[in-house]
Amino acid sequence: MSVTAGVSLASRLVLVMVLLLLLIQAAVFFSTREAMQRQAATEIETSLEVGERILQRLLVQDAERLGDAASVLASDFGFRSAIGTGDTDTIESALENSAARIGASVASFLDLRFQLLAATRESSATLRGTLETLGPALAEGRHDDDLAILQGVPYQFVLAPVRSPLLVGWVMMGFPVDATLARDFERLSGTSAAFFARMGDEPWQSVGASLESDNWRYTIHPERGTSKATIDGASFASRILYLPAAGGELAVVLVRSIDELMAPFTRLQQVLAVLTLVGIVCFTLISLLAAARVTRPLAQLTRATSRLEQGDFDVRIEGTDRGDEVGRLARGFQNMQTGLANQREEIMRLAYWDTLTGLPNREQFRRCLGEVIDAARSSSKPVTVVLLDLDRFKPVNDVLGYAFGDRLLQAVAERLREQTGASARMVARLDDDHFAIILLNTDARQGDALAAQWQQQLLLPLTLDGHTIDLSASFGVASWPESTDHPATLINRAEIAMDAAKARGVGHLVYEPSMDSASLQSLSLLTDLRTALDTGQLQLYLQPKVAAQSGKLVGAEALIRWIHPVRGMIPPMAFIPFAEQTGFIRQLTQWVFDAVADAAMALRAHGLSIPLSLNLSTRDLLDVQLPARLLDRLAQHPVLRPSDFCLEITESAIMEDPKRARHTLIELAEHGFRLSIDDFGTGHSSLAYLQALPVHELKIDRSFLRDFVTTDRNRLIVKSTVELAHALNLSVVAEGVEDETTMQALAGLHCDDVQGYWITRPLPVGAFLSWHDQWRRHPLNPAHAR
Ligand code: C2E
Ligand code: CA
Ligand code: CA
Repeated sequence: MSVTAGVSLASRLVLVMVLLLLLIQAAVFFSTREAMQRQAATEIETSLEVGERILQRLLVQDAERLGDAASVLASDFGFRSAIGTGDTDTIESALENSAARIGASVASFLDLRFQLLAATRESSATLRGTLETLGPALAEGRHDDDLAILQGVPYQFVLAPVRSPLLVGWVMMGFPVDATLARDFERLSGTSAAFFARMGDEPWQSVGASLESDNWRYTIHPERGTSKATIDGASFASRILYLPAAGGELAVVLVRSIDELMAPFTRLQQVLAVLTLVGIVCFTLISLLAAARVTRPLAQLTRATSRLEQGDFDVRIEGTDRGDEVGRLARGFQNMQTGLANQREEIMRLAYWDTLTGLPNREQFRRCLGEVIDAARSSSKPVTVVLLDLDRFKPVNDVLGYAFGDRLLQAVAERLREQTGASARMVARLDDDHFAIILLNTDARQGDALAAQWQQQLLLPLTLDGHTIDLSASFGVASWPESTDHPATLINRAEIAMDAAKARGVGHLVYEPSMDSASLQSLSLLTDLRTALDTGQLQLYLQPKVAAQSGKLVGAEALIRWIHPVRGMIPPMAFIPFAEQTGFIRQLTQWVFDAVADAAMALRAHGLSIPLSLNLSTRDLLDVQLPARLLDRLAQHPVLRPSDFCLEITESAIMEDPKRARHTLIELAEHGFRLSIDDFGTGHSSLAYLQALPVHELKIDRSFLRDFVTTDRNRLIVKSTVELAHALNLSVVAEGVEDETTMQALAGLHCDDVQGYWITRPLPVGAFLSWHDQWRRHPLNPAHAR
């Protein structure tokens, strides 16, 4: 991975451009500086050369000025007559005046042999001893040799002849080469100068300089021979000039300030640096703007994609209308976005919706429930789940086909949606024929009331493809926080309540912990069941069937009871379905048959000879061996005939496999067993179909007796069922009679027999006999009987 991986495209572009500019600017800057420095060096050199010429010129000029002054004095009449008379005082005073006028420090009069005759006051000591060599040279006009070192001080001398009219002597004048001369020089040339002198081989002595500070002495010296010097931190260029002088040597060091010379260049350089800096800043800003302009659409696309990544599919993608590469890229992204959004929608649909009914599925239901309970925690308002399961849906599917089953589920979904209306937060299909409803601000009791209402509304028959279907469903109710504190188990609890409602045939139930243990224990129940059979925990109860008109006992239905040593009385619906599933029902039916035969013998012993009914399950009906086995058992009791037994078969058991059922039923009827259609009206068979079976009796399901007196509908159904059954030569039994009014209404409808709690609950054989003793004496008067 490169180092620049994290840097944006824009900054990288700007970085490259700015670096390039810096490179170019640096090249320009340094080459310009180089040129300027070269130019400055030449300038320094030139200025020192010019300085040297000016110095020489200054020396010549001074010599001429001095020469003129000496000539004026030499031709002065008074001076010449003073010489003529030998008046030394006058000569000296003339010399004094002339020297003062021109600023010479030495003025003297020499005789023809260059012997000093008169001099200004300070001069005589200075000049003594040097005139013999200096005089002749000057007299010959060798101007180059007009310098002399006298007592360590360099002087410039001139000689003028004194004629009267013949040559009588010489006027000699001189002034020192010192700081004054250096300053004059500096004024003229702008270059500083320092003078040094030495006598013979003695060391150099400084004799005067135009430099202000005294510090120059440390760095400027003829012997150092340097061309560069530093004084007080400033740089100087220097040049040494040696001038011959009588009695020694003179050195002039010309000093020129480099900084001063360089000043305009330095300023130029500073301007150049500032310009470069300003240029870079401007360029950087402009490049940033330009790069941003180029990369902005890319950055927008990048932002859009990262929002896409986070699942936000509504993000607007900019730049799709552009004609360039960015536009093409943006359009590509847009297409990808639409594709992804569609795909996600489809996935969501599959994941959270039931495709058949268009209702939310189990997953969505589960999520929604979790959410509403989370929300309800703060307000602690109850949330209730109602689960429902269609009764006998499987046989419908099997008999009328899956396509029809699907249509039926769709119709049920539609009906539920309408019925639950605004009261439901969500109606979902969990699977198969399981539906579920979430109710907000509803407790279990209110939920149960609603479930009861919906259950009734669902009972209205449904017409599909010309088939009229009687719908019914079992409802289970569980609520938060009453039934459980965990949303996850709430559905489970409602399911348990629903199973219990179905098992007990009560339509709707609210969850109770006891149901939970019943279903949890159902597995161990099955193993227990085998033991129960062997150890006599099973008992047979009898419920009487009496004639509706007279109240005369006409028969009894045998109902199995399991008296569990620990759990007490276990209702048949809690174990018979399991027995059916495992096939254990065969043994159970066998046991019941034997027990019924025993009971019949017991009743006979008390002079009661009535047919006893027993219930067969679907499995029994599909068992081709059943008739043979029953006959085999019957052989144990020679007194009993098959006609002493009535076999109750539910409508749905027949419809499970109509062909085989019909075969078994015909065989049983041929042997003389009486046959009864149990729970009639709850299935989907028609009387026309049942007519073709060798059946003797119809038992109208007890659900039709509910609200029998007040609702016309159920009464009408029972009335027409009774009429039709009589037309087909079948006797009709109404089961589940719980009150006298129903009893009388049934009698009014010419229903043959009745069975129900109003007469008595199922009873053990002994109790049954005692009940009958009472009943026989006061028929149709249960107050006495109970
Ligand atoms: P079922 O054959 O429809 O039996 C009638 C049920 O209605 C019995 O429930 C009975 O106690 C109840 N019942 C009688 N009168 C009334 C009444 O006035 N009101 C109400 N609400 N209910 C009344 P039970 O004994 O709990 O049996 C339930 C079901 O268990 C039976 O329904 C039957 O399908 C099955 N079952 C019972 N014993 C056996 C058996 O020995 N073998 C088989 N295979 N199934 C049995
Ligand atoms: Ca029955
Ligand atoms: Ca029944």
